[in-house]
Amino acid sequence: MSHEHHIHEGESLRSAARDRLTAQGEQWTDTRSAVFEALAEFTKPASAYDIAEAVSKAEGRRIAANSVYRILDLFVNANLARRVESANAYIANRHPECLHDCIFLICDTCGQTVHIDDDKLSGGVRNAAKGAGFSAPRPVIEVRGTCGDCDSQ
Ligand SMILES: [Zn+2]
Ligand SMILES: [Zn+2]
Ligand SMILES: [Zn+2]
Repeated sequence: MSHEHHIHEGESLRSAARDRLTAQGEQWTDTRSAVFEALAEFTKPASAYDIAEAVSKAEGRRIAANSVYRILDLFVNANLARRVESANAYIANRHPECLHDCIFLICDTCGQTVHIDDDKLSGGVRNAAKGAGFSAPRPVIEVRGTCGDCDSQ
């Protein structure tokens, strides 16, 4: 079974994120918008501190990492962002309107993170977990290695 799966960039990503959040009854405030904007600019997973710094710089006013952290939490619950567990940081979800067990490939050298979706692969992990008696499993699949850019240097 296939579905229309859009990987958004730039303006299209921002509007998809806004639509998704407002569809959940949440407001797309200026601060939330600025946090999403900053998050989407990062090509590697960013911490709440990294994002607070980027937003403070862009907005010309101090924004606390704590507020950023709460917004990131909201974004993760609304499928606007994903937490990269092994990096202890966040990345914008480029398909906010559809749910997948996203798979992340993280470069050990430069930190660049590639996001892939393979429901067959994550479905196999889900099934194996269920087979072992786990209910409602939530696969977290992260692969560490060296990205193509770093490998060719
Ligand atoms: Zn999809
Ligand atoms: Zn994904
Ligand atoms: Zn790399």
